[in-house]
Amino acid sequence: KLKPHVAVPLVATNRINTPEVAEAVLASGAADMVSMARPLLADPHWVEKARTGRAHAINTCIACNQACLDHVFENKRASCLVNPRACAETELVYTPAPAPKSIAVVGAGPAGLACATVAAERGHRVTLFDAAGDIGGQFNLAKRIPGKEEFHETLRYFRQRIADTGVELRLSTPVDAGMLDGYDEVVVATGVTPRDVDFPGHDHPKVVGYLDVLQGRVVPGAKVAIIGAGGIGFDVTEFLAEAGTSASLDPARWMAEWGVDPTFEAPGGLLKPHPEPPARQLWLLQRSPGRPGARLGKTTGWIHRATLKGKGVKMLGGVEYLGVDDDGLHVRIDGSEQVLAVDHVVVCAGQEPRRDLHAALAARGRTAHLIGGADVAAELDAKRAIDQGSRLAARL
Ligand code: FAD
Ligand code: NAP
Ligand code: SF4
Repeated sequence: KLKPHVAVPLVATNRINTPEVAEAVLASGAADMVSMARPLLADPHWVEKARTGRAHAINTCIACNQACLDHVFENKRASCLVNPRACAETELVYTPAPAPKSIAVVGAGPAGLACATVAAERGHRVTLFDAAGDIGGQFNLAKRIPGKEEFHETLRYFRQRIADTGVELRLSTPVDAGMLDGYDEVVVATGVTPRDVDFPGHDHPKVVGYLDVLQGRVVPGAKVAIIGAGGIGFDVTEFLAEAGTSASLDPARWMAEWGVDPTFEAPGGLLKPHPEPPARQLWLLQRSPGRPGARLGKTTGWIHRATLKGKGVKMLGGVEYLGVDDDGLHVRIDGSEQVLAVDHVVVCAGQEPRRDLHAALAARGRTAHLIGGADVAAELDAKRAIDQGSRLAARL
């Protein structure tokens, strides 16, 4: 739209993260050049891979902003969630292993995937186990959240890395300590288990966990309270608010929701936003005082808060949970008791490390490395999981 009106070369930017998108922009004649920043943090070999027909091996930027823009706004060195070597190229170096070892990595979530593929790239013989039928761990839940569809790309990348580095992958294989004799090194990347709550009625049929909801075992009713307003509480609320297909997959719907004028005729290209009606009535609750969402990422937190506001979600802090019964969730807020007449209460109250395998190994006198959520569940995210797995693999 702009090109016919300017006499200088025009550069297009933002969310040009695959060669197909870049080529489409250029082929349409809308711009003379494309510019990329975050995609090159995610994969410095992006251009070379595109040029040599290896686009399937690109480590794609997933637009999380967690290690690039969020770091910049906190005066920290920028890096990349999917590529911890970004801006750390001289300190995180993957040298060939002086003596190749046999290594078992248990858990194919982000921590185990990063560890297994870097260790194999260095020349170790790596076996990667997971009890589930696919790689990815909690990323398989994250990719179901509206707006997080690009998390699929990270799993596609790791599948390619497993093939390229020669990791032996054993899926659908729950591992016990007895299966790990004979390996030179054992890495435990078994992730987390959701934290239970203990208020009266915590075992009432209305109370379900976020795994039940995201894995489709429970379809909550028309009125739902979400307990815990961390990253997962927000994601689950967005999942429950969205009716049908994610608007992120339908540009016309997405632009209407956010008030983007596709004709660019309105001033600034902005129209009145028209959020689609929510699929159900939702309450997002936390015990801490203040409004939920204060600890979300600097550059993306406002998006989550605005999305839920647009869907009419009641976001409340300073909530005391008194119990759940057939009437709903009993709470005390600002000293006054009330009942939220909900059909379901979804618990998103954080997570605990899953260390049963590590403990069993220790009982057999076997030392093992702990990474990701299995190491520390508090404030865990994929940025830390991938970074920790990669750094351990660089030392093995
Ligand atoms: P996990 O991903 O939990 O993987 C552990 C793996 O170990 C699992 O696959 C499990 O099957 C396997 N396992 C366990 N025990 C055994 C055993 N005995 N034998 C064999 N296999 C075993 N993080 C972000 O940074 N950004 C986000 O936007 C984001 N969004 C999220 C959205 C949702 C809905 C959820 C649930 C999480 C999100 N996260 C996000 C968090 C992120 O996914 C986790 O921090 C990350 O997956 C932790 O990685 P991990 O490898 O430590 O563990
Ligand atoms: P979290 O961020 O630690 O949030 C847990 C929530 O549960 C908090 O709101 C906490 O608030 C509440 N809570 C804790 N203990 C409770 C209890 N006993 N009873 C009731 N409520 C309790 O954990 P999470 O939401 O599970 O997320 C896990 C990690 O995944 C996070 O560290 C996050 O970084 C990552 N993640 C990131 C994103 C992202 O977009 N960047 C998205 C999803 C997940 P109160 O104590 O105030 O009640
Ligand atoms: Fe992209 Fe996230 Fe990496 Fe930033 S941290 S470059 S948004 S993948």
